[in-house]
Amino acid sequence: MNLAPPKGTDDILSPDSRAWRRVLRSWDSWSERFGFELGMTPLFEATELFERGVGESTEVVRKQMYTFEDRAGRSLSLRPEGTASFVRAYLNAGIRGVWKASYSGPMFRYEKPQKGRRRQFFQVGAEVIGTESPEVDAEIIELAYRFLLDVGVPAVVVEINSLGDPSDRSAYEAVLVTWLNDRIDRLCADSVETLAINPLRVLDCKVCREVTMGAPTPVEMMSPTAKEAYETVKQRLTLLDVPYRENPRLVRGLDYYTRTAFEYIATGLDAAQNAVGGGGRYDGLGEKICGRAVPGVGVALGIDRIILAMGDPVLPPSTEAFVVAAPGFSDEAAIVVSRLRGEGSKVETVFGGRSLNAQTKAAAKTAVAVIITVGEGYAQGQVTYRELRSGAETQVSIEEISQCLKP
Ligand code: AMP
Repeated sequence: MNLAPPKGTDDILSPDSRAWRRVLRSWDSWSERFGFELGMTPLFEATELFERGVGESTEVVRKQMYTFEDRAGRSLSLRPEGTASFVRAYLNAGIRGVWKASYSGPMFRYEKPQKGRRRQFFQVGAEVIGTESPEVDAEIIELAYRFLLDVGVPAVVVEINSLGDPSDRSAYEAVLVTWLNDRIDRLCADSVETLAINPLRVLDCKVCREVTMGAPTPVEMMSPTAKEAYETVKQRLTLLDVPYRENPRLVRGLDYYTRTAFEYIATGLDAAQNAVGGGGRYDGLGEKICGRAVPGVGVALGIDRIILAMGDPVLPPSTEAFVVAAPGFSDEAAIVVSRLRGEGSKVETVFGGRSLNAQTKAAAKTAVAVIITVGEGYAQGQVTYRELRSGAETQVSIEEISQCLKP
C-alpha cells in the first residue's frame, strides 16, 4: 500500500516536530498567563453547527468541509475551525458571564494543498465569550502578538479593521454589491461567483485587487457606538505597546464577524500564506446557532504557517545529557537516569548491553553536550561528567548532576 499520508496532510516528526513543541508550549504558557483555561471540544460536530455558525454562504462550508454520515445516518463534519464549537459548548454548559478558553488542535478543510495551505492543519486559539467590552478585543490581540514574538516569527504586522454592528454590516454589504455590480465585467470568474454568495470576500481576491481598490469600506458606514468601540480597541493597543496597521479592506472569510476584525501578517512569507492568524468579534454567532445572543471575541493562529515563518530556529537540544554504563553497571546507570529525569533533566541512554565504546559513539551522534558515565565510582556516589565541546572530564556527585546540567 502507499505509505504516504493522505493528500494535504503531513506526518510531523523529529527533528521538525521540535519547533512544533516549542510553539505549543509557548501558546500554553501565554494563554495561561492571560487567564485562559484549557478547552477541548470534539473534532467532529453536527454539520448544522457549521452551516448555521460559520455560514452556508462561506467557502469553508460550501466547498471545504469533510462531511459524512455516521452509522445512524446523522450528518457530521470534521471541524473546519474552533469558534462555533466553543460558542455551542458555552451555551450547552449553561455558563453565564465571562468565560475564557484556549485550545490547540487540528482543523480540516478540503483545500487545494500547497505550502502553508493544508487539508489537515493545526491551530492554536482563544475565545472570550460573554462580554462586549472592546478592551477584551485588545487583550486578545495582544495575547497572540506576544505569543508570535515569543516563538520568533519575524516582522509580524497586526492589521485591524471594524465591520461595524450587524446592521452596519448589512447596509455596507448592500452598498458594496451595487458598487461591484457596476464593475462586474472587470471581475474574474471566481469573484463573480463569490459576489452572488458572499460579496465581502470579493475584496480578498488578489486578481481583482486593482478593480476593488477604490471600493467603499465598512468604516465609512459604521454606527457611532461601533465607531467608539473601534476607537477604544485602537487606544488600548497603543497603550499596551502593540503596533498595528489599519486595513479598511480586511473583512475575513467567515459570516459571523461583527465589529473588530484583525489579522497577523508575517511579512517575510509569500502573500498567499502570510496570514499566520486572525480573529474578531462575533456577537451574532450565538443567535445564529440557537437563537440566544451571546457576545464573544476570538483569535486563531495556524501553526503550519508559524513554523514556516520561523525559518530555521535555533532550539535548545532536546536531550541535555546521555548516560552510559561501564561493564556491569547497567542497573546503576538506569537508577541515575531515572533520578535525573525525576529532577527535571532531559536525559537519554542506550539499552541492549552494548560496550561502553559503542554507547559513547551512539551518544556522540546525537549532538548531546554531556556524557555521564556510571561505573566504579558509583559506590562512592560519583559519576564521570564529560563536556563534549571542551572535552573537560570531572568526577561529580550524583546529587550535583542536575545542578551541573542547568544552563
Ligand atoms: P481562519 O480560521 O480561516 O481565520 O484561519 C486562521 C489561521 O489558520 C490562518 O491565518 C492560517 O494561519 C491558518 N489556516 C487557515 N486555513 C489553513 C490551511 N488550510 N492550512 C494551513 N493553515 C491554515
